[in-house]
Amino acid sequence: SAQPFRRYASSSPTAAFAGHKGSNGKYTVTLIPGDGIGPEISESVKDIYAAAEVPIEWEEVSVTPVLKAGKTVIPDIAINSVKKNTVALKGPLATPIGKGHVSLNLTLRRTFNLFANVRPCISIKGFKTPYDDVNTVLIRENTEGEYSGIEHEIVDGVVQSIKLITWDASERVARYAFHYAQASGRKRVTAVHKANIMKMSDGMFLSACRQVSKDFPDIAYDEDLLDRVCLQIVQNPQPYSNRVMVMPNLYGDILSDMCAGLIGGLGLTPSGNIGRDASIFEAVHGSAPDIAGKGLANPTALLLSSLMMLRHMNLNDHAAKIEEAALGTIAEGKTITGDLGGKASTKEYTRAIIEKL
Ligand code: NAD
Repeated sequence: SAQPFRRYASSSPTAAFAGHKGSNGKYTVTLIPGDGIGPEISESVKDIYAAAEVPIEWEEVSVTPVLKAGKTVIPDIAINSVKKNTVALKGPLATPIGKGHVSLNLTLRRTFNLFANVRPCISIKGFKTPYDDVNTVLIRENTEGEYSGIEHEIVDGVVQSIKLITWDASERVARYAFHYAQASGRKRVTAVHKANIMKMSDGMFLSACRQVSKDFPDIAYDEDLLDRVCLQIVQNPQPYSNRVMVMPNLYGDILSDMCAGLIGGLGLTPSGNIGRDASIFEAVHGSAPDIAGKGLANPTALLLSSLMMLRHMNLNDHAAKIEEAALGTIAEGKTITGDLGGKASTKEYTRAIIEKL
């Protein structure tokens, strides 16, 4: 049955889906398979969608940079595809470390102003982890903070990296977090911060959250220090259940990986990058070069990201059906991938899900 916001919801009134159904009754969705394990896990999602008869058509594009007027940029064809379809599913993209490389992930976020990164972290029933009751959603500001990319060497041996916080971006992500809480039936929004040290920047982030909270009298609001949350949540995640945590960019990056560890690792954690004009859904994990091409990757995180996308598109019944099959396969524990302690290949696991549809 349709339970649009039961687990991996993504939608809110600030980011409505505006795609169009083609004459064949199907929506077109951009698919960026990505690097490393990206193509293998994308294949798995495509197979499951075909078996579940999801009414979408994939428009596959590559974002491998091309040279344009002396600059390396994402190909127009990829940008235009996301613009037109307003939703995309994206595999991981490898970012070489060091000088002179543009991060394609950051470029996509900037191009489409994907201001909120939504990361649900929810225990999977039947899959044994130290805690079985993790149920929180992290919403990370996705456009600024330490990710602003403003760095320079002041003198030899001294580098300055600027953390940029603006009222507008803080207010925008706070509002999204409250809308999300409302839409998903979560009762509390917690702003996570280090305003004890970063009094001005995190201080302003908190002021924005506080102001927005006044517009949502039905949702409780509080504030907590990042270091305190880290300690408490690994000791007992239960008090963080049923709430949404909103925070500046870098904190969200780190805290969400920690929360992923609590529910069984990166193979299981989905995310959505929400913008006003387009939204891109992707796994939290990277391209996993150590296992790429070996048929060992766990496609669950990308699959669950795609379910956030389906719910964003209001295809709730299809999302519920696939979710049940995937979570059921994991709970059974017979045919799961190596990262979850099993022996199944990506393809065997995919087939097991398809058999349950
Ligand atoms: P990673 O997430 O790729 O891998 C970390 C570990 O987790 C590895 O041991 C890997 O094998 C394992 N792992 C990750 N996903 C898995 C899956 N689906 N199934 C089974 N095991 C899985 O992190 P990394 O090694 O730090 O990064 C590799 C590359 O990915 C880097 O270039 C990085 O910049 C990029 N990256 C991209 C994104 C993105 O596109 N959104 C996110 C994170 C990292």
